[in-house]
Amino acid sequence: MYCRNCGQEIDDKADFCVHCGVRVNKGSSPIKEHNLMALIGFVAAFFFPIAGLICSILAYKGSSEYRNGYKNFAIAGIAISSGALIFIVVLVVLFFTGILLSPHFMV
Ligand SMILES: [Zn+2]
Repeated sequence: MYCRNCGQEIDDKADFCVHCGVRVNKGSSPIKEHNLMALIGFVAAFFFPIAGLICSILAYKGSSEYRNGYKNFAIAGIAISSGALIFIVVLVVLFFTGILLSPHFMV
């Protein structure tokens, strides 16, 4: 785990940080290293916008628990997946309105 005060790696069983001497708070969750959810959300935004949006929002909310929160990736993931979703909705609307307005249906 990592010390909440100085961020140095310390033994999981240690009561005090060997680097700065601060008491390790065992009750709270230890700081995690990489916010992988942000990276997954960012990549997923290009292929699965709904999954990407959910992952990116979760990653953005939880980014403070990580040493490397990748908050920018989470924000980018939210932006890209939102844009992709809007693009898909517009395409679907155009598709259906195009079919409804096509001469084939106007008997
Ligand atoms: Zn420390």
